[in-house]
Amino acid sequence: MPDTASDKQAEGLTPYQHPFPQDAVPEIFVPRIEPEDDREWVPQAEGVWFRPLCLGVSQGYYVNLLRVRKAGVLSCHRHFGPVHAHVLKGKWHYLEHDWVAEAGAYIFEAPGETHTLVVPEGVAEMVTLFHVTGGYMYCTPDGAPTGCEDVFTKIELCRKHYESCGLGADYVERFIR
Ligand code: FE
Repeated sequence: MPDTASDKQAEGLTPYQHPFPQDAVPEIFVPRIEPEDDREWVPQAEGVWFRPLCLGVSQGYYVNLLRVRKAGVLSCHRHFGPVHAHVLKGKWHYLEHDWVAEAGAYIFEAPGETHTLVVPEGVAEMVTLFHVTGGYMYCTPDGAPTGCEDVFTKIELCRKHYESCGLGADYVERFIR
């Protein structure tokens, strides 16, 4: 084991010796993306929750887990920015595509994607990590707008839920950058 500064240097174990840039924001460390405390899951609809990981207010994006514990449909919506997804558990598909996303899958969705997510019968739980930039608009299959969501509406949902479940409204602050 290296024990002097020069030994550490020889081993390449010397940490960076300077402060980070003055304007850099702190990292976020989440030890378990599926939390031990179930209250971290924010209810979104019947049988649907999300769990924030990074709420990027200065660049208009968020990273979260989506958990669905019912078979059925999540409303049709149109994305205004890119989406990256990684399926961790279960499976789902979109009415608009012919593929099925199962645990292990990665999906990129370009701005303009308009889709309706379906969790099929027989899937007890699906969990997917989504990185969503720029928000999205709920709409009818004909394209008529019915609502919208972005990092700010997500934060509001978190605040309300964390307040009411006892974690405290400012619990969400740790995920905001
Ligand atoms: Fe989507």
